[in-house]
Amino acid sequence: MQPNNRIDHFLPVRFGNGTLVKQFSKPCIKCQQLLHARHMHGIARVVEDHMALAATAHCPSCHTQFPIACVIDNEKRVRRVVLPNFLFKLYLRSLPANAIEQKAREDGQAQLAREQPAPQAAPVPSVDYPRADAVLGQYQGKPIPAYIVVNGQEVPFDRVEPEGRVANGEYLLDGCFVYKAA
Ligand SMILES: [Zn+2]
Repeated sequence: MQPNNRIDHFLPVRFGNGTLVKQFSKPCIKCQQLLHARHMHGIARVVEDHMALAATAHCPSCHTQFPIACVIDNEKRVRRVVLPNFLFKLYLRSLPANAIEQKAREDGQAQLAREQPAPQAAPVPSVDYPRADAVLGQYQGKPIPAYIVVNGQEVPFDRVEPEGRVANGEYLLDGCFVYKAA
């Protein structure tokens, strides 16, 4: 049995014909606000050349909850499923994760990475920026300066990154402390 997950965990998916499904949206049945995969909990399975999805959507605006049961094919056409939602969910849960699904997800992630290079791609060199005397705590015996000075600006501490990965606009100190403009 598969647990209920947020539907965005199941995306992106790339089908064998190259179609990439990055997002799934549906308007709220009550207030029409567009809800996305992160507003839905349930299960999604890739079966051959389509993705089946059974979920409960929760509207953040009006708090309406409603069921969604549909199949998305490899042309991104969405068809409603007429089975009762609970039955469809049960059916999807009974399907084991399979090799096709695994590949569809890996291909989806790979394609997405090519389209929008991940900001946290590579470790950057650690520069010895001027640092505040004020210390926020310690990490592995190293004091964490409250801020560093970059181009004359104080940049506050953001987080510890043991692997030293930072995104654009962030600065790395001592190989693991990340600083980011507020
Ligand atoms: Zn709503």
